[in-house]
Parts: sequence; C-alpha cells; structure tokens
Amino acid sequence: RLSARGLVKQFGATTALAGVDLDVAAGESVAVMGPSGSGKSTLLHCLAGILVPDAGTVALSGRGLHDLDERERSLVRRRQYGFVFQFGQLLAELPAIENVALAPMLLGTPRREATELAGRWLASLGLAGMEGRRPGELSGGQAQRVAVARALITGPEVVFADEPTGALDQATGQDVMRVLTETTRLAGASLVVVTHDAGVAAWCGRRVEVRDGRVVADERRAPEVAR
Ligand code: ATP
Ligand code: MG
Repeated sequence: RLSARGLVKQFGATTALAGVDLDVAAGESVAVMGPSGSGKSTLLHCLAGILVPDAGTVALSGRGLHDLDERERSLVRRRQYGFVFQFGQLLAELPAIENVALAPMLLGTPRREATELAGRWLASLGLAGMEGRRPGELSGGQAQRVAVARALITGPEVVFADEPTGALDQATGQDVMRVLTETTRLAGASLVVVTHDAGVAAWCGRRVEVRDGRVVADERRAPEVAR
C-alpha cells in the first residue's frame, strides 16, 4: 500500500537519494539497512512525507503524498502513519499516559476516551502502574514501549521507526523490537524500520539495503517471531 518511485533527494552537492523504488505491502515489515550516510533516514523521511523529494513519487494506497499540500500531508501523518524514533520523542513534562493519549486527542477523540484507550495500550505493553511516570522516570526500554503505544494507538496503516533501539542495550533492544513487530503485526499495519543492527533487522520479514542513495539488495526471509 506504500509505493515509492524514482525518489531523488539532494542536499546541496550531496545526493542522499539517487533514484529509489520501493513497495511496501499491507502488513509487511521491512528493515532498511546500510552504512552511515547511505540515505536511510532521508528515504524514511520522504516515505513519511516529512521531506519533499526533488524527484519521484510516494503513494499511500494510490494517493500521491507529494501532490497534497503541507496541511493535508500532516493529516496523513497523524491519521495513517505512526512514528518511533531513537529517543527524545516523548514530551518530557507529560506523564506516559498523556503522551499516548495526545495522539488520538489530536485527531479529535475526547480526552476521557483517549485516556482510557491509552491506559489499555500501556497495560497491554506491560506498563500497567507506570501511567503517571514522566519519560525521565522510565527506563529506556519502557520509554520506547510508551513510544510504540503512541505510534499504534491511532490505528495507522504504516509505522516508521528510525533506529528505535539505537539508545538501548542489546537485550532491551531485542525486547523493544519484539514488542514493536508483534503489535504492528496484530494491528495489521506495515512497518518500516531503519537500523544498522542485523539483530534488529532479523525481526522483519524483509531486508532492504541502501548504499549511496540506492537500493542494492532486497530480500525476504522468515522473521523472528515472539515465543
Ligand atoms: P546514519 O546511519 O548515520 O543515520 P543515514 O543512512 O540515515 O545515516 P541520511 O541521514 O539519510 O543517512 O543522510 C544521507 C546523506 O545526506 C548524508 O551524506 C548526509 O550528510 C546528507 N544529509 C542528510 N540530511 C541532510 C540535511 N538536512 N542537510 C544536508 N545534508 C544532509
Ligand atoms: Mg539515519
């Protein structure tokens, strides 16, 4: 349902993307790998409508993302996309439950309903009893679970994650990947994860490798599954 064709993005003299085609099917999980500076984050930002490519198109369920104006694109991001980044994405001054409830509230869900739903999401991700904690009072792994809840609570079609385990130790990173892939799969959403860690990529059913702004490998393998 997500389809990119001929994506090109330049930053001054640097060609970050040199013509990328990528299709992500409904429910598919894709790891985007490659060396530092190869264009992974730039690709994710173009797919997510955060960056406008210099050439090429991104279509979500057949609708051209870059034919929309910025206001319409930000609505697509809120309604159809979820995001998990490396760290620092939660609002430090708000308790976990409000960080999660904010996403549906921004789409018009009343506070009371949004808060109840957020409580259920936190509980289902193993965070019962931690609703009132601010991000600084959570471990890195717990904070990423809050971020996963926030990304999924609105029922997105695609979840984008850029180095979601980058700030975590190996075991905690694996745990966050298990939660992220499992919840995304149960929600029927697609997942695009940027990572340089093969252990993280192993949780995805497909691995795409980017070098110098091009896709140089694209292979499907059975993903790790939660036991
Ligand atoms: P990393 O693994 O280090 O995060 P990456 O694969 O995500 O790397 P990108 O961030 O996509 O790499 O960057 C691709 C290229 O584009 C790099 O050469 C980078 O320096 C350049 N670049 C990215 N964003 C900008 C920007 N806003 N302004 C200028 N150059 C940029
Ligand atoms: Mg990056």
